[in-house]
Formats: sequence, C-alpha cells, structure tokens
Amino acid sequence: MYDIIIIGAGPAGLSSGIYASRLGAKTMILEKLTPGGQITLSSEIENYPGICEVKSGIEFMSCWPNQAKKFGCEIVSEEVIEIKKEKYFKIKTTKHEYSSKAVIIATGSTPKKAGFDGELEYTGRGVSYCAVCDGFFYKNKIVAVIGGGDTALEEALYLSKIAKKVYLIHRRDKFRAAPSTQKKVFNTPNIEIIFKETVKKVFGKEFVEGIILSSNKELKVDGVFVFVGMKVNNELVKNLVKLNEWGEVKVNLDMQTSLDGLFAAGDIRENSVKQVVAAAGDGAVAAINAIKYIEKGE
Ligand code: NAP
Repeated sequence: MYDIIIIGAGPAGLSSGIYASRLGAKTMILEKLTPGGQITLSSEIENYPGICEVKSGIEFMSCWPNQAKKFGCEIVSEEVIEIKKEKYFKIKTTKHEYSSKAVIIATGSTPKKAGFDGELEYTGRGVSYCAVCDGFFYKNKIVAVIGGGDTALEEALYLSKIAKKVYLIHRRDKFRAAPSTQKKVFNTPNIEIIFKETVKKVFGKEFVEGIILSSNKELKVDGVFVFVGMKVNNELVKNLVKLNEWGEVKVNLDMQTSLDGLFAAGDIRENSVKQVVAAAGDGAVAAINAIKYIEKGE
C-alpha cells in the first residue's frame, strides 16, 4: 500500500513526488513515457526562476527524477488504465494493480497538431505551441500563428508586442474567438490576417525559414506558433471528478478535486497558466494537502 500514487512525471508530478517523499510519504510516480513531460519538447527554457542561463527543456528536467528518487520516491514506467476508489484507491496499470491512500493526477494536456509537413521535425526548432515559453526568441522577427480560436488570437496579440510581424493564418474566413479579442487583432497594425489558408509545409535548414500555404504561396517566417486546440489528458478521471466545459479538472486551492483524496496538479486542472513553474507549484500544493488528507483519515 502506497500513501500517494502520482500519475504523470512532468513538472507537476515530479514536484509532487519530491515533496511527498521528502515529507515521509511512501510515494510512487507512474509514467507511461519518459519522465520530463511536455517541456522536454521545448528547445529553450529561461523563465523558470533560478535558471540564469538558458537551458533546453530536456537538460532542465534531467535531474528532477533523481531528486525525487533521492527522497525515496519510486518512478515506475507503466501506463495507468484505471483508477477506482473503494476504501482506498486502486490503480490498475497494463501490468499491475496498486493501492494508495491518495492519488495525484498530473497527466497534463497535449497541444493538438495542425498536421502540416515538417511539424514534428521542426518542433523546438521554430515550431512552437507556447508563446509565453518561446515568444521572446522572436524579438523583432517574423512569425506565423495558426488558428482562429481565443488562444490563437490572444497569443497573436501577445506575439505582436515582441515580433516585428505576425501572420495570423486561419482556415476559414471567420474567427471563433471572442468579438472583443477579434477587434483588438483587427486593430493591431503588425498582425496580417490570412483567411482561408492552411499551412502545407514548413521549410528551413536547422531552424524554420519559411512556410508554404495551401495556395502554394511562400512566406518567409522565423517561427510558427500552432494554436489549434488542446487535448486535456483527463481520460482516467473524467468519470470520477467534476470537469469544466473544456474538460479541465475542477480543483479548490488545495488542488483537491471533487473526489476526496484525489488531487490534480499542472496543466490538467482548470485555470492552469500552463507554465512549468506553476505546475511545479501545484505539485507541491497537491502533495502537502494529500498528506494532510491521509493524516486526517488515520
Ligand atoms: P478552439 O476554440 O477549439 O480553436 C481552435 C482553432 O483552431 C479553430 O479556429 C479551428 O478552426 C482551428 N483548427 C483546428 N484544427 C486545425 C487544423 N488542423 N489546421 C488549422 N486550423 C485548425 O481552441 P482554443 O483556441 O485553444 O480554445 C479552447 C477553448 O478554450 C475554447 O472554448 C476557448 O473559447 C477557450 N479559451 C478561452 C479563453 C478566454 O476566455 N480568454 C482563452 C483561451 C481559450 P475552425 O474555427 O475552422 O474550427
């Protein structure tokens, strides 16, 4: 029997693991892929406090699992397929079944891909899914933003303050973003809107140098930001806890979900700002409160 089982080994899950095990809880993290999470796809991270030299996402995350293990946290590479709550939680993976007194779900969210040629190949080399993370690297450069929803338009506005020019490329001739956001976009001189086009291909040597649109028109750009929706990785808990209209897990300030003893941390929870530092903070909050929950029951 574990005190706490954490599902997901991104910044939220690993931070939970560090806090929970250091506080003396018997803790295990289950992760189906390699520990590190989405940030390992980022070519550079420089906005995590204390990181005074730019690092790659992989380099930045490399010691987090060891830090958790140092305090006794187990990190096991298994895919969870079911969570059940009886007296305790039962966590079923493709290989085993485990029991725990509390659970922290930290499975994050995954940006949807737009589907153009070179999208995967150039991710982290000019193709990005996070303007706050990567926008700064495009100071006075030219970028393309793909999408027509709130995120695409809000991020295009954000990028317009950093980049020299922003092409906003949308597949239809109408945006679905809020009218007030649309108005701001229409009134921003360095955003050029391109309707009824998709990106067919990205090209460049080491980094992105341009894109080819569905009409075969070529645009020279230094970066491509893709905002075509997010998939919240809520499959394991969607029938157990309350979600908001976008499928994000509702939590209180303790990161407690609507099911007692089940906590959520990081990008899976509602109102997440989807930043590593915030996910790590959530992880600590969830771990501390999971321990309080266990102590209350004993
Ligand atoms: P979204 O509203 O689903 O918009 C996705 C956009 O990407 C749509 O314009 C869609 O085009 C386009 N798209 C989808 N697949 C594509 C593809 N393969 N190639 C090119 N374009 C593609 O996603 P979101 O903007 O991430 O927002 C998600 C939810 O969060 C929404 O409900 C949104 O209102 C909400 N949100 C709210 C705020 C806020 O209130 N401030 C901020 C951010 C997000 P079509 O329009 O043609 O379908």
